[in-house]
Amino acid sequence: MADDYEKLLSRGLSRIKDSGGPGRFEMPVAEVEAHGQRTIVRNFAQIADRFRRDPQHMLKFFQKELATSGSIENGQAVFLGNITPALIGRKLTDYASEFVFCKACGQPDTGIATEGKVEMLACWACGAKRQIRSLK
Ligand SMILES: [Zn+2]
Repeated sequence: MADDYEKLLSRGLSRIKDSGGPGRFEMPVAEVEAHGQRTIVRNFAQIADRFRRDPQHMLKFFQKELATSGSIENGQAVFLGNITPALIGRKLTDYASEFVFCKACGQPDTGIATEGKVEMLACWACGAKRQIRSLK
């Protein structure tokens, strides 16, 4: 598993280097702590900041995906229940691929715009747009 990940990483790196694109985006790693019946993601707001997303938007995603309630306190997300760091990490990757990365060019330089009643992910790097799931 770890080896495959390394391979993927280095392949991604060399591809970025070849195309002369912007610097590599470092996928943030969640700092997860178990506190009794609660799970805390210490750097939640920091991660949202890295993605250029509203922490509340990311929180809504996690609440839906983990089927639990949560809140943000002092930049940390607090979820009810014992959630493994592996699951948090997987959901973070899911969030990034659904709400951060452009599917056309693979860059994370995107923003969420509302057009009428639909939410769109707009890419600043290549101009691509796609509709995204509304988390309301
Ligand atoms: Zn793009």
